[in-house]
Amino acid sequence: MIVELQGVSLTYQAPDGEVKALDNVSFGVNEGEFVSIVGPSGCGKSTLLSIMAGLEKPTGGSALLNGQPISSPSPKIGYMPQKDQLFPWRTIWGNITLGPELQKIKSGPCIDHINDLCRRYGIADFIKKTPSQLSGGMRQRCALIRTLALSPDILLLDEPFSALDYQTRLAVSADIYSIIRSEGKTAILVTHDISESVSLSDRVVVLSRRPGRVKSIHSLQGLENMSPMDRRNSDAFRQYFNDIWKELDINV
Ligand code: ADP
Ligand code: MG
Repeated sequence: MIVELQGVSLTYQAPDGEVKALDNVSFGVNEGEFVSIVGPSGCGKSTLLSIMAGLEKPTGGSALLNGQPISSPSPKIGYMPQKDQLFPWRTIWGNITLGPELQKIKSGPCIDHINDLCRRYGIADFIKKTPSQLSGGMRQRCALIRTLALSPDILLLDEPFSALDYQTRLAVSADIYSIIRSEGKTAILVTHDISESVSLSDRVVVLSRRPGRVKSIHSLQGLENMSPMDRRNSDAFRQYFNDIWKELDINV
């Protein structure tokens, strides 16, 4: 098991009192696995991801990476936060090389790796542009390449497609999926979109309303070797969608 959450709870101390965001969350993620976390808005999904990124400390339980407590951000963990994707004043190259620059490893092998990623994933022609000159989908691809620049073992993705319109979202999620699979990365995706979770992952963890608790975990058997679009057109997809839909506490 590469990531393990053992009874993770987190209570925020806010000016107007305590907010219990997570309650006793336990599950593990295996190497090379793609796991989605779904749950209603405000149930603690981003909180859970920021604990795994080493940015928040659980107030109860523990989060482990390869058996060691996660206590601070690490280059082994690539985190794509929900907000603040690319810096608008930096070029694409400036954005993609930001991590290595901050880690002071912007040297030969690292630059070769980034150049290789840019070539393989079709952004070599865009590196001199600024983010505002790119489409939403291309910006997401650049944000992912930036996250891959430090060669993390694990990718944490917080609602990476939520700002895109529906059709673009289908195309971009399939695109990002194929990059993650071909890089052989372990991925943990937070989303409020059941279809997205079933079309992309190996397992789906369903969280309850706040404080987030694990309601159930679904292994998406029968979908493993299908593309996200083929999954969406399958009977198994509809079955999993319905199973998860019944469990999700949607606030209307
Ligand atoms: P989600 O990503 O599922 O929408 P979050 O993890 O962002 O949920 O937030 C879970 C709950 O914790 C929400 O009620 C949110 O308002 C609260 N919360 C998030 N961050 C903080 C913070 N820094 N201080 C106080 N409360 C917070
Ligand atoms: Mg969130």
